[in-house]
Amino acid sequence: MPRKVIIIGSGCAGCTAALYAARANLNPLMIEGTEPGGQLTITSDVENYPGFPKGILGPELMNLMKEQSVRFGTDVISEEVTKVDFSQRPFKVWVGEKLYEGETVIISTGASAMWLGLESEKKLWGKGVSACATCDAFFFKNQHVVVVGGGDTAMEEATFLAKFASKVTVVHRRHELRASKIMQKRALDNPKINFVWDTVVEEVKDVSQGKVTAVTFKNIKNGEKKDFACDGLFIAIGHKPNTELFKGQLALDKKGYIAMKKLPSMATDIPGVFACGDVQDAIYRQAVTAAGTGCTAAIDAERFLSHNE
Ligand code: NDP
Repeated sequence: MPRKVIIIGSGCAGCTAALYAARANLNPLMIEGTEPGGQLTITSDVENYPGFPKGILGPELMNLMKEQSVRFGTDVISEEVTKVDFSQRPFKVWVGEKLYEGETVIISTGASAMWLGLESEKKLWGKGVSACATCDAFFFKNQHVVVVGGGDTAMEEATFLAKFASKVTVVHRRHELRASKIMQKRALDNPKINFVWDTVVEEVKDVSQGKVTAVTFKNIKNGEKKDFACDGLFIAIGHKPNTELFKGQLALDKKGYIAMKKLPSMATDIPGVFACGDVQDAIYRQAVTAAGTGCTAAIDAERFLSHNE
């Protein structure tokens, strides 16, 4: 028997979709994926999720969300989807050799922040290295932070960080920003923000102290290296939606995000396949917005089922 709803991914969007689908008596199957709980499991304190005035640890919040969805009848499997076939209903979802069929599918595979790929960056992640100013700027009050990147995200993060930090240094690998003119101007005009051009970050210090004390800059024009003291490092070099699995199955936009039908609905171009969370959102990317779209996707799936039964 096909499942009524299969949810692929288990971050804020997936867990919320599971909770709503379960409470609609649809007994959803949630396939967790390789990073159960999604991006919040690699952050520390979450202080902007409503309902937690004292903040909550990301992994703890995700455990609670999963527990809540299971309480109402979500079945969870801790595996990774390896292949899908959305060409006809019921939709086919494989985990290795094992085939699951679903009358509807909700995709919530999220996006991953792109990283510089440094060993020190990985070790200090969550200890001064972050990819989300909205989440972490508050921890850098009156401190000096470095932002890497030259796009809209970097400008937005720098401008937001400048409300808290005493100084923000944007380091960009070229001498020309990629960001839109208006976002550039906002950052360039901000007296707290300064720019270091033609430069990359080669190392984050100090792993032995377990916190950020400096970054090693390398000027790519003259090869000169220097340590630059700072208290935090924000990586803003883009995000990659986790949509490899869906290429050729449903419409993606030119950046690889799932292309959605017009709001208000979380419908993709295939009737019965819905998407929610960061896999379809390049702009807001917040836990609470992901959860909101997860709720919407589950309601859409339920309505689709009742219209198509
Ligand atoms: P972008 O791809 O636009 O920019 C990424 C930036 O990071 C580029 O400047 C790039 O340099 C740099 N970069 C990439 N890889 C590296 C690396 N390994 N080392 C150093 N630097 C690197 O991504 P964004 O996240 O900024 O934006 C994504 C999309 O979201 C855009 O379309 C943007 O307009 C949109 N957006 C809109 C916002 C808004 O309207 N409020 C806010 C935020 C994003 P280079 O320029 O040399 O390639």
